[in-house]
Amino acid sequence: MDRLSDIGTIKSILSRHGFSFSKALGQNFLVNPNVCPEMARLSGAGEGVGVIEIGPGIGVLTAELAKLADKVVSIELDKRLLPVLDETLAGFDNVTIVNGDVMEVDLRKLIEEEFEELDVVVCANLPYYITSPVIMKLLEERLPIRSITVMVQKEAAQRITAPLGTRAAGAVTASVSYYAEAKTLFKVSAGSFMPPPKVDSAVIRLDIRPQPPVSVSDEALMFSVIRASFAQRRKTILNSLSNSLHLGKGDVSAALEKAGVSPTARAEQLTLGEFAAVANALHENNGK
Ligand code: SAM
Repeated sequence: MDRLSDIGTIKSILSRHGFSFSKALGQNFLVNPNVCPEMARLSGAGEGVGVIEIGPGIGVLTAELAKLADKVVSIELDKRLLPVLDETLAGFDNVTIVNGDVMEVDLRKLIEEEFEELDVVVCANLPYYITSPVIMKLLEERLPIRSITVMVQKEAAQRITAPLGTRAAGAVTASVSYYAEAKTLFKVSAGSFMPPPKVDSAVIRLDIRPQPPVSVSDEALMFSVIRASFAQRRKTILNSLSNSLHLGKGDVSAALEKAGVSPTARAEQLTLGEFAAVANALHENNGK
């Protein structure tokens, strides 16, 4: 279909299908014709590559991905969009739509069944109400994927891509940096969407690391330490860890000392290596 990203075309398709936007499903559709081609190009979609898309909407990004990649599998929760996608993507024979909730779909199985020999990347204009859960699911499941290129709210982009050890960093920064290298690709104004969201957006790319950059004896414990540290980010690391993890101050002090971390430091000052060292020290103390 020609000029799918043209706002007139989009409006006429949606009105023909009697479609009304669902706020609860984070439905803000891209109507800026420059964004999808650029996003698709920077996602690594190309020959020998399969793409998982989350939330195709009416298929504007899907179509750009399908032009470049060998295959695109798009997961869409809203059943009402299925007949729309049938129409808008009729010209492509390399797109499969899966009707379901991305949080429930077995992505490992989907990759095995749909992509065989292909390299796999994820590319999506995410529904913003589940930005962090989706990103963490994609990372924590250690899927055989190369990268994740996603549109998120500008504030989420700043948080996720912030350097650790700076004020902009948060628990998600530290957790993401264990699995991937994150960078912002470009910003997108609220006016590029219909209906326009309240905030601007940005496209970020997470390049999956072949190996984690730090060595950790108990990953789950490290992620608890990260969450506990940032849960009370204004407090000292000693207080926030002992409060949130319900540990005695003596035990936490000993672990911090062993890790070479000052008990008066704040979470935002710690590097990933330091979070790992604190978790390793707590783990060792537990084993005693
Ligand atoms: N890709 C389209 C675009 O850029 O115009 C639509 C993006 S819109 C921000 C988010 C899309 O995700 C919507 O189509 C919405 O129905 C879908 N969605 C919301 N929650 C979802 C979920 N849990 N699983 C899969 N899709 C979901």
